[in-house]
Amino acid sequence: MRASTSKRGTPDARPRATAGTAGIAVELRGVRRQYGRGGNTVHALAGVDAALPRGTFTAIMGPSGSGKSTFLQSAAGLDRATAGSVLLGGTDITGMNEDELTELRRDRIGFVFQSFNLLPSLTVEQNVLLPTRLAGQRQDRRRAAAVLAQVGLADKGRRRPSELSGGQQQRVAIARALVTVPDVIFADEPTGALDTRTAADVLGLLRNAVDALGATVVMVTHDPAAAAWADRVLFLADGSFAGDLSGGTAEQIATRMTALTAVAAGAARPRATAGVAA
Ligand code: ADP
Repeated sequence: MRASTSKRGTPDARPRATAGTAGIAVELRGVRRQYGRGGNTVHALAGVDAALPRGTFTAIMGPSGSGKSTFLQSAAGLDRATAGSVLLGGTDITGMNEDELTELRRDRIGFVFQSFNLLPSLTVEQNVLLPTRLAGQRQDRRRAAAVLAQVGLADKGRRRPSELSGGQQQRVAIARALVTVPDVIFADEPTGALDTRTAADVLGLLRNAVDALGATVVMVTHDPAAAAWADRVLFLADGSFAGDLSGGTAEQIATRMTALTAVAAGAARPRATAGVAA
């Protein structure tokens, strides 16, 4: 049972996705991403394999500098892997050109950022419909109303983002991510700017998008309480896969993180010190 879900009532009544039949939404095969050359080479991702099933909620955790952002950006087609391949909804995006990647991100990926990234001059409804407007599609106001209702903002469509609280703005961002029914929603520290209670509301919405709407969510977070809302936590250390935890409580996740951070801190110590310690 997830520690954080106890706040929300009946967590165990929620349907769980069946990974075997749901298919794979995101797959990384031997993904490497390096920066710099020669002695200054940084292996942000040092050959990562991951398969994230459709209809599941995955959290990506790891110490600072472990490659979380690089993982998310590579998986979302925002950054190119140095080697390996990324498949989104079964499509290999590795060889796509910039135009194809832009289209893919617009049509098949939803993004939720720490800073909400809403356009202040547009109404809430217009922000939600922005992905479809950019795609040159008809502005389906009923669809906007439906996703706004799903995030509990049925009456806020005509407001501007500045008239809403931080938590409400993040709800709008989630509605915008849901509007195109994407293959996957990538969330980068979505609760980083929110207080604990508001964060729980936002995480509950992401959880509900997975359980009730069949969405696939991949979330980078440094917060064990946030990660406890996920089905599975995937840990990174030094650009490599460092284990995973399914259905872990916030405490269990925090314990794993503490161990990984201690190892990372040890590795970062000057060589002489590490040698003496050994
Ligand atoms: P995290 O999100 O876990 O903090 P990142 O994915 O941001 O980690 O970074 C992984 C490693 O790659 C770090 O050592 C970081 O300094 C390095 N890195 C990330 N982006 C760049 C870049 N544009 N140029 C050089 N090094 C980078």
